[in-house]
Amino acid sequence: MTETHLVTNQSEPLVGHNLFSQDRVLFDLVNRYGGDWSIAQLTAFGLTMGSQEAIDWACQANENQPVLKTHDRFGHRVDMVEFHPAYHNLMQTSIQYGLHNLPWKENKDGAHVARAAMLYMAFQNEAGHCCPISMTYSVIPALRKQPDIAARWEALILSNEYDGRFLPASQKKGVTFGMGMTEKQGGSDVRANTTRAVPAAEAGPGKEYKLTGHKWFCSAPMSDAFLILAQTDKGVSCFLVPRFKEDGSKNSLRIQRLKEKLGNKSNASSELEFVDAQGFLIGQEGRGVGHHHRDGQSHPPRLHAGRLGSHAPGHPASNQPCSPPQRLRQEAYRSAAHAQCAG
Ligand SMILES: Cc1cc2nc3c(=O)[nH]c(=O)nc-3n(C[C@H](O)[C@H](O)[C@H](O)COP(=O)(O)OP(=O)(O)OC[C@H]3O[C@@H](n4cnc5c(N)ncnc54)[C@H](O)[C@@H]3O)c2cc1C
Repeated sequence: MTETHLVTNQSEPLVGHNLFSQDRVLFDLVNRYGGDWSIAQLTAFGLTMGSQEAIDWACQANENQPVLKTHDRFGHRVDMVEFHPAYHNLMQTSIQYGLHNLPWKENKDGAHVARAAMLYMAFQNEAGHCCPISMTYSVIPALRKQPDIAARWEALILSNEYDGRFLPASQKKGVTFGMGMTEKQGGSDVRANTTRAVPAAEAGPGKEYKLTGHKWFCSAPMSDAFLILAQTDKGVSCFLVPRFKEDGSKNSLRIQRLKEKLGNKSNASSELEFVDAQGFLIGQEGRGVGHHHRDGQSHPPRLHAGRLGSHAPGHPASNQPCSPPQRLRQEAYRSAAHAQCAG
């Protein structure tokens, strides 16, 4: 029989490649911009993310997409998303290495550079899980605008234990955060948002409000809490909305459907509805855009997830294009500049 399927001129799989120590440009940039103290951690992360096991997780997490369960079999709303175990493995690994919190724990020069280098590596393995990781990283500066709320949540963000259980945060070993800024009539221009927030009793920073509205594109809906933009009489304001209320009951967040996306498939993006959902005001009413955009919430994740991610060299599972390494050098500058602003 004549053999017809001869495979020639194809590249070999890039497996067992250390994404840090074997990337000369990345290695040199981290050293040059103050991240030399993180070399051991970055080398270990590079080895893990380049391993066959982690590459398999990346493929599995994108081939087996998240599934929305709106109700249980008795008809009660549950609003849960189930992920393939490979997705949880990726989350667990990135959180263990501090991809979501390193600069907030290590008060050292170059901490944002070290974290940016880790994210650059994580994206080469799997982009989707980097979304909740980056959003969690980004919330700290905004939360610190409201110290009483930060006191309740910050320690759980600074934890390096991934806890994917659907439980009130008070019962968990670590948490992740999402964000709901945009709406269908207000993508770039969030001033057009229509989600409303009214005081449950008294108005003011840190106080409880009730939120009603609809977010058109809210990624990572299984996050333990979200920073949400909603309108008050004074304009767009920023709220922390937990998945479970303070009394331990499920907050009234309804996941209406998951988005059909061309890429980023491991990460559930959803339409999320709030019906008198419990939220807590961060900072002043009417200062929501400032808290999100200037104080941290949207700037770091967009900067990192967008700029770094879309320019990482890219593994097949990550749907990321290739680009010149100069982007990372620019990113190192920007991260360092941001660290100075946020610090
Ligand atoms: C995979 C994915 C996940 C997402 N996850 C989240 C999430 O978790 N939370 C969340 O809040 N949002 C999320 N979004 C929404 C995302 O933030 C918005 O898509 C984005 O803000 C752009 O809004 P839009 O799509 O309505 O586009 P538009 O705002 O309508 O913009 C359309 C085009 O016009 C341009 N444009 C808009 N305004 C101007 C202007 N003033 N000057 C010049 N050009 C302009 C834009 O650059 C763009 O090219 C997600 C989106 C995607 C694709």
